[in-house]
Amino acid sequence: MKNTTTTTRHAELRQILTDRRREMQETVQSRIRDVRSDRASEVFDEIELSDADTHGDIEFAVLQMQAETLTRIDAALVQLDAGEYGSCVSCGGEISETRLRALPFAVRCRACEERREQGDVQTRRLAASRAGASLFSDAGRY
Ligand SMILES: [Zn+2]
Repeated sequence: MKNTTTTTRHAELRQILTDRRREMQETVQSRIRDVRSDRASEVFDEIELSDADTHGDIEFAVLQMQAETLTRIDAALVQLDAGEYGSCVSCGGEISETRLRALPFAVRCRACEERREQGDVQTRRLAASRAGASLFSDAGRY
């Protein structure tokens, strides 16, 4: 009975990742089909050819991004088996399943992420005021 919660969570996290993986694979496959049927029906005069190239580049970039996502999901599944997936890197606590379903590659729990975002805003404000100050002193110097 001791490990029931962990086992359930493990199973749910695996479900989240495999769902996402399947979605991604289906999207990639349908995209590849789309690209092929696009190509088959295209009329290749010079102008349309350059359009087709641009279109192909975008498609390629999207496919590449999705392939990277698949790689990350696979890596997350390996981490999950090693017991390293779904823990917050800041506080070591569990990242909620709801959060992981929305953001499978989240590395922080919501509380830590919010704290970090607030910190970022403060850092940016500080940097902005420093930049403003140095701009001001430079203006005084010359
Ligand atoms: Zn945390």
